[in-house]
Amino acid sequence: MSDFFLYKYDKIREQRGVKMNLIQIKNNTYYFDNPSVIGLYRLNDTDVLLIDTGLDDDAARKVLRIIDERNWKIKAVINTHSHADHCGGNHFIQKRTDALFYATAFEKSYIETPSSEPHYLFGSYPPKIMRAKFLQANPSIINRLIERDNMIIEGVDFKIIDLKGHSPGHIGIITQDDVFFVGDAVIESKIVEKYKFLYNYSLRDLLEALNKVLEINAEYYVLSHGGVKRTIKDDIEINMIAINSLNEFILGMLNKEYNKNDIHREMTKYFGIEETISNYYLNDSLLSSHLAYLIEENMIEFYVSSGEIFYKKQPLG
Ligand SMILES: [Zn+2]
Repeated sequence: MSDFFLYKYDKIREQRGVKMNLIQIKNNTYYFDNPSVIGLYRLNDTDVLLIDTGLDDDAARKVLRIIDERNWKIKAVINTHSHADHCGGNHFIQKRTDALFYATAFEKSYIETPSSEPHYLFGSYPPKIMRAKFLQANPSIINRLIERDNMIIEGVDFKIIDLKGHSPGHIGIITQDDVFFVGDAVIESKIVEKYKFLYNYSLRDLLEALNKVLEINAEYYVLSHGGVKRTIKDDIEINMIAINSLNEFILGMLNKEYNKNDIHREMTKYFGIEETISNYYLNDSLLSSHLAYLIEENMIEFYVSSGEIFYKKQPLG
């Protein structure tokens, strides 16, 4: 057992040297079967738009090769969010095309200053091991901000859905073909069952995002980790179960007061988490998100004493 971050490692390792394919979902909407899915929308006979760009130059090179073979041109790229496996290919595509890059203001700041991610995980300038490409993408420039529910890009209307939670400015995109790219807002149930945790920045927002996706009826859903689905209800349910199981574990511990290190240590044992430095900091950040949520919901309280922060369940009534 391990967590979602390790899933990405496993997946990238599996895919090394494997050919990438472009698969049509419906009409003008396609996807590349990359470890984190890359969407493609045909704007007209020659021009295309990408949704995310994969982890690195290697993923972007494979995408460009397939696009060149068809004599298509990338006119625009939308990033669902700034995590390295979704925007790490931006840099390569930006060097080789005239495409305009789109993201929300929050994600733009991380994409353009990618050291922000290991910085916030570590708490200050991080050691080299945390600046590896899984946590820190190559920097790229975002040319246009996504601020509205609808964006007309190169003459085509795209529906933009605010799905913040997994990251601060995460979005989903619905194409004209009624294909809903949900990014990392929903993770496929099989992956969640195996890797246990859902990384999130704001748990309250993620729960809202999951409910929002549940209410939107699309013909197809594309999960960045999980691929194309006709229904998404079961996956969302498993995502909710995983979130609740960590909340319940924390609440179960906090009949007594504990500091965060205590909770992290017990969580590592209970869920059988594989331990690496990066994984530790990602899980510590995830734990903070759950603790903040439980504090805001008045389920636990926290206080400082003798140089330590303690957490404890709120007394009933
Ligand atoms: Zn992500």
